[in-house]
Amino acid sequence: MDLPTVETLDRPGGDDEVRALLPGLGTDRALLGGGTWLFSVPQPHLRGLVDLTAAGWTPFTADDDGLTVAATATLAELADLDPAGHPQWPALPLLAECCEALVGSRKVWHVATVGGNVCLALPAGPMITMAAALDGVAVVWDAAGRERREPVVDLVAGPQRTTLAAGDLLRAVHLPAAALRGRTALRKASLSPLGRSAVLLAGRRDGHTDGAFTLAVTAALPRPAVLRYATIPSADGLAADVDALADTHGGWYDDAHGSPAWRHAMTRHLAEEIRTELR
Ligand SMILES: Cc1cc2nc3c(=O)[nH]c(=O)nc-3n(C[C@H](O)[C@H](O)[C@H](O)COP(=O)(O)OP(=O)(O)OC[C@H]3O[C@@H](n4cnc5c(N)ncnc54)[C@H](O)[C@@H]3O)c2cc1C
Repeated sequence: MDLPTVETLDRPGGDDEVRALLPGLGTDRALLGGGTWLFSVPQPHLRGLVDLTAAGWTPFTADDDGLTVAATATLAELADLDPAGHPQWPALPLLAECCEALVGSRKVWHVATVGGNVCLALPAGPMITMAAALDGVAVVWDAAGRERREPVVDLVAGPQRTTLAAGDLLRAVHLPAAALRGRTALRKASLSPLGRSAVLLAGRRDGHTDGAFTLAVTAALPRPAVLRYATIPSADGLAADVDALADTHGGWYDDAHGSPAWRHAMTRHLAEEIRTELR
């Protein structure tokens, strides 16, 4: 939709130009990723946009430390990342699987950005799921020219709430090599086959038979949760820890995509499926 109150559009062409614009961000001036959310609902408070897509950031940087995904990388680029090019990282197929959890056709995938998905902070944000399961770290630039690093799972504070302050920008998400060496499994529940995720879980098993087990629980809670175990937990132990998430993470989420009781039951069920697959 048109945003008739927007009067200025900046398209910074590199890091220096991006940084120079950050102090001017606030309630009436927002960063623009792919715009698939920004242009989907009225934004009467906005007077200006800063389009990040001209910044020229390399979508992916792979080295011995892991994979750094630029905030402007699109979901299509992420889904097309060829796992065969990085055989040392068995977790890579999870990236495409998380993209598929956003049921928005390739048309949406081609413009929606990883950074936009994380910063929008919807409970069903699949880039949040990906980062939570793979120990993803947000690289954030602030308006004073500093850079900080923060686990994505902490950056997302609740539905459409993050720890980002006015003038903060998500520059990238770093996925550490140690996590990418794990085996992964994803499960999703929706009320309809093409519906938005009501429960989105991603598990990771490090090493082979005795490795650590990590379970990211998203969409079913207002903010992401990560359960961690030194080795595979028992079925009862995992179920009890899932049950306890309601107390620590603001209750089972309630919206048009699923009731809290159903989300709780499906989280229990799918967590056990992941545990069984990765044990
Ligand atoms: C058919 C359809 C299905 C969808 N399904 C889902 C779904 O299942 N789950 C889901 O989470 N979303 C869904 N969406 C919403 C949205 O398309 C996605 O969340 C998308 O990934 C947002 O990315 P974007 O780049 O388009 O963000 P934009 O719309 O450009 O921005 C979103 C927000 O993030 C801010 N922002 C963007 N980039 C940065 C940055 N680098 N640093 C700081 N702030 C930034 C913007 O200011 C804005 O507030 C869907 C949309 C459509 C049209």
